[in-house]
Amino acid sequence: MSNPSILILPGDGIGPEVMDQVVRVIDWYGAKRDLAFDVSTDLVGGAAYDAHGVPLHDDTMAKAQEVDAVLLGAVGGPKYDDLDFSVKPERGLLRLRKEMDLYSNLRPAQCFDALADFSSLKKDVVAGLDIMIVRELTSGVYFGEPRGIIEEGNERVGINTQRYTESEIERAARSAFELAMRRNKKVCSMEKANVMESGILWREVVTKVGEDYPEVELSHMYADNGAMQLVRAPKQFDVIVTDNLFGDILSDCAAMLTGSLGMLPSASLGAPMANGRPKAMYEPVHGSAPDIAGQGKANPIACMLSFAMALRYSFDHGEEAARLEGAIEKVLADGARTGDLMGPEGGTPLSTAEMGDAILAALDASL
Ligand code: NAD
Repeated sequence: MSNPSILILPGDGIGPEVMDQVVRVIDWYGAKRDLAFDVSTDLVGGAAYDAHGVPLHDDTMAKAQEVDAVLLGAVGGPKYDDLDFSVKPERGLLRLRKEMDLYSNLRPAQCFDALADFSSLKKDVVAGLDIMIVRELTSGVYFGEPRGIIEEGNERVGINTQRYTESEIERAARSAFELAMRRNKKVCSMEKANVMESGILWREVVTKVGEDYPEVELSHMYADNGAMQLVRAPKQFDVIVTDNLFGDILSDCAAMLTGSLGMLPSASLGAPMANGRPKAMYEPVHGSAPDIAGQGKANPIACMLSFAMALRYSFDHGEEAARLEGAIEKVLADGARTGDLMGPEGGTPLSTAEMGDAILAALDASL
């Protein structure tokens, strides 16, 4: 049987720097855990624009459709700010999400104990936090028609439409319940059923899907209360499922509970392929960080945790994902810090490659 395949798209800015460290981790799994991947690498974003005049070449798009998982670094940078909208680096990313139909966006908010002081909340509120937000990614008010700015009388009116079909809600809900089955078996669905018909339908469909998962405890919450609860007592949640707009806001809010942007992974999943694996793209939440690009300062952990998500959700190696997460937890507990994780007490930050060295050493020690 052939090895599982990964397409690596390092992108721009710190993307290639953090991805270099992930490639070392992938190689480690091949050498030490007999877990080899067929890895290919290609261009996306500004790098693709420089080479091909487009932020994602058709051949790269075709490759992304064929592999078991795409791993993306980051796109964008000041050099590309004045480009026409149609060829901006971000269009490459959006094309991947759209054509792979990645409808379920997974954003974990996990607080490593060693970093609990970084949160703007009290340490005991966030220490040990481990929640997952599932955001519907391909529908809702960002895509609904009619939309636009029209003239009405002597003024203009801005219009967007919140629109969800039952099947769109159902597939997002199902992915949340599947996740909950691998975690603590709790799903909280968030909408505004008190004021929005789409929220009423959302609640009905999620409830119906929940009947297929009797082991999972389902609760419902209005999204505004959800925002308050996330900041008041985030540990009450396991999996949160919500629509595109609320998910955009709630996932950023939850992510910041945990401290640095350099620590946050994400996964975007679509329908199962013929081999049963979901279409999938994994990427850190952060951007290309032009302010530190090329200086060896970037924190590679968000990108490594994205690969850990790939191990768990695409390759069914939950125990190996936990091994990598455990290695990262250990180096942080031992005091290893890149510049973004330096506290007021100061010290000498590790470079991107030195953080990679420390994590590889912790992986070795885990054997
Ligand atoms: P950013 O995430 O790139 O950076 C914000 C701040 O966080 C910067 O100070 C940066 O140095 C720091 N930072 C981010 N990641 C870090 C890491 N791994 N280690 C250490 N520090 C880190 O956001 P921005 O500055 O708003 O955007 C820069 C460029 O990235 C823009 O072109 C933007 O469009 C693009 N962007 C891309 C993505 C993506 O590819 N998914 C996401 C957001 C922004």
